[in-house]
Amino acid sequence: MTALSHLKGIIFDMDGTLVDSGLDFAAMRVEMGLRPGIPILEQLGELSQADRTAKEEILHRHEFEGAKRASMIDGADRLLQALAKEGRPMAIVTRNSTVTTRHTLSFLNIGHYFDIVICREDGPHKPDPWAILEICRRWKFTVDEVVMVGDYELDIQSAQNAGCPSVLFTEGKAPSSVEGNELATHVATHFDELYYLLAPREDSI
Ligand SMILES: [Mg+2]
Repeated sequence: MTALSHLKGIIFDMDGTLVDSGLDFAAMRVEMGLRPGIPILEQLGELSQADRTAKEEILHRHEFEGAKRASMIDGADRLLQALAKEGRPMAIVTRNSTVTTRHTLSFLNIGHYFDIVICREDGPHKPDPWAILEICRRWKFTVDEVVMVGDYELDIQSAQNAGCPSVLFTEGKAPSSVEGNELATHVATHFDELYYLLAPREDSI
């Protein structure tokens, strides 16, 4: 048994956790004329329809360009294969759009790993716990039987708001340098650590 191998279902963030789409959110905010340091979707929500539509076009262009150059984060494929082999269900919760997410998963040929994919058009987005609670409802699991794995503060906040365990994946960065680290129930700096937290048996490596 590993630390989280008893959990019944695993929920992943996509960009920055499983997939590197090279999205530069700071540069995107500059091009969209948005304030630094505040998540894009929240700022778009404050705008008039016309202003929002114009800025959403910029957002979609960046997201779609990201999908076309997307690559798997090193080690992610091995983890997905191992988890799929043991049969625990996996889901994605992303603040990315449905069209870009579908394109990315198909381009990387990993869509088959996930039986639920929730994107920003589907309901209240992270840090709202809605998506996690919806996945638990569909899987018929309680919140303490799933884990949310993500690279960003909003992923960890959504897990905390839902009441489920979380893993902050930092991809080499010191956990203390990532905002929200103090809210995470677990931290993985590299994918092999994530593997050891989640994978079913240590001898399966
Ligand atoms: Mg992310």
